[in-house]
Amino acid sequence: MVVHDSLLARLHDKTLVVEAAKVGTRWVYNATDGQRFDVHNPSTGVILASLPALSAGDARKAIADAKKAQLSWVKKTGKDRAAHLMRWHRLWIDNADDLATILTAEQGKPFTEARGEILYGAAYLEWFAEEAKRIYGDVIPAHVENARILVLKQAIGVVAAITPWNFPNAMIARKVAPALAVGCAMVAKPAAETPLSTLALAVLADRAGIPDGLFSVITARSGAEFGREVTSNPDVSKITFTGSTEVGRILMRQGAEQIKKLGLELGGNAPFIVFDDADLDSAVEGAILAKFRNAGQTCVCANRIYVQSSIHDAFVAKFVTRVRNLKVGDGFEPDTVIGPLINRSSVAKVQDHIEDAIKQGAVLLTGGSPDGGTHFVEPTVIIGACASMKVATEETFGPLAPIFRFDDVDEVIELANSSEFGLSGYFYAKDMARIFKVAEALEVGIVGVNTGLISTEVAPFGGVKQSGLGREGSRYGADDYLEIKYICLGGQSA
Ligand code: ADP
Repeated sequence: MVVHDSLLARLHDKTLVVEAAKVGTRWVYNATDGQRFDVHNPSTGVILASLPALSAGDARKAIADAKKAQLSWVKKTGKDRAAHLMRWHRLWIDNADDLATILTAEQGKPFTEARGEILYGAAYLEWFAEEAKRIYGDVIPAHVENARILVLKQAIGVVAAITPWNFPNAMIARKVAPALAVGCAMVAKPAAETPLSTLALAVLADRAGIPDGLFSVITARSGAEFGREVTSNPDVSKITFTGSTEVGRILMRQGAEQIKKLGLELGGNAPFIVFDDADLDSAVEGAILAKFRNAGQTCVCANRIYVQSSIHDAFVAKFVTRVRNLKVGDGFEPDTVIGPLINRSSVAKVQDHIEDAIKQGAVLLTGGSPDGGTHFVEPTVIIGACASMKVATEETFGPLAPIFRFDDVDEVIELANSSEFGLSGYFYAKDMARIFKVAEALEVGIVGVNTGLISTEVAPFGGVKQSGLGREGSRYGADDYLEIKYICLGGQSA
């Protein structure tokens, strides 16, 4: 197949779209058994490209090449590794428009949002390139007179990455940047829905002179075979995964045999709380961002909006007015704010959550109807949501905003925490004592206070409870790719 014209025509550099996988040191155009899979544009349904459906053997080859490449890469100075990553970063920025075009085409999000994601992803590369020079160890005063104790931080080795379709650029950026910065190699498997964005990064990695074998991109129709290979291959020292809690659990179970180290960014069910002392206009804006970015398909999306009784009606009126103005459409249309959902089953899930809520007494204020047969869903607001509804317990992953009413602080903290997930939480309030009380009480890894946007490369991103293990971004993000070794040096003078 050749890449679809609707994508090629929009690109300045058409060579950024490849119908091949990067397996270790080689680009592979065909699977040994000839199997392929298609990548679709979720807005139009057209097939954009076709890719080789690789198997466990290809992953194994990539892991073997990664192992070799890592041995030389880790010997380079931090400064040298940083220089490589900064060259890659430069190309990432220079090609931001094309990378965003590829992202919008295969994922659907509005082009400006896609461009924002490219810059956000690039920021991880810059951040960790800078950190590459600062992987400091320690010297600890010894326990006996004639010894010295040194602590080294060493690259963990070959890392396997599995990424989802909702942020095809940023989710790989968060992983590959720290991994390569500290001296690891990476074999990545992007989601089958959105592999072109990751492959474009591999093209740029080649151009930046990132050594062959250090960054592989395995294309596969499903993740299961890759998952089994990387959890059982002794040359993989760590697996970093972003996706569903369900698959995180599978990887943990499979990795148990070899005590595989895991970094997991899993599901969320974020509460968004508006207290009676909040600035209502900024709370509405925050809720729009936290709820509708990426059409509600982010793991930090506000899933449950709790509004204190005394301001409930005022908040709802302002919020609904804003939601009615959010334009749904193809991500390449300049005024689109909400793109399509990734597939039909995502549309069905949102529909199911709406119907379940209405059956249990919720009231629909706006939206509610999917555009028959397409992946588009109108942004939807319901009020009268309660704890027995699916919207309270399951991650909706779509543009549905359920509003719950509450009366006091302790009640809403309990409601907010009644979830097995613990990724992010948001609230709007002014009273400082209340701010500290609620921020400390929320059982989540990330709290947004008076803001609906919490993602940045300089802060540690990650969850508690069943939302995951480890942190991505910030200086803590490097730790996931490092082992600590201590050297006890005896026979020294007292
Ligand atoms: P989502 O519901 O967002 O698609 P998934 O957890 O199903 O989340 O998918 C996230 C990533 O995990 C994708 O790259 C997918 O191919 C991969 N994946 C799915 N099932 C498995 C599995 N059993 N083992 C390893 N990876 C998997």
